[in-house]
Amino acid sequence: MPKPKSSFFCQSCGYEASKWLGKCPSCGAWNSFVEEVVAKAEAKNDWRQETGRSKISQPKTLEEIESGHEVRMATPDQELDRVLGGGIVPGSLVLIGGEPGIGKSTLMLQVGLALKNFKVLFVSGEESEQQI
Ligand SMILES: [Zn+2]
Repeated sequence: MPKPKSSFFCQSCGYEASKWLGKCPSCGAWNSFVEEVVAKAEAKNDWRQETGRSKISQPKTLEEIESGHEVRMATPDQELDRVLGGGIVPGSLVLIGGEPGIGKSTLMLQVGLALKNFKVLFVSGEESEQQI
């Protein structure tokens, strides 16, 4: 089994180096480097296999890209599906914006609750657990 790969990181600014350094070349801090094991590439491959993505992405020309084959997940909200172009694209990120109190959290909670066959992670930086 190969030795786990490790790098040295400045605890002050996050600068990464392959060997221990007394002084950080980025922020100038002294004795700020600590060794950390870097996650092996195999762990990333597992994630890609779980999500059905190929291991290696290669650049493509526009002619090589097929359109219209995206699998979409329907939400309980027809209008939201329409705005999203037919539903949620797995692996995509959707930014929901709007005025405070307009119903962004309520809409996302309803969508999350309706996706019964999926694990949903609801992250909030504003509301308390009780408010959610
Ligand atoms: Zn530094």
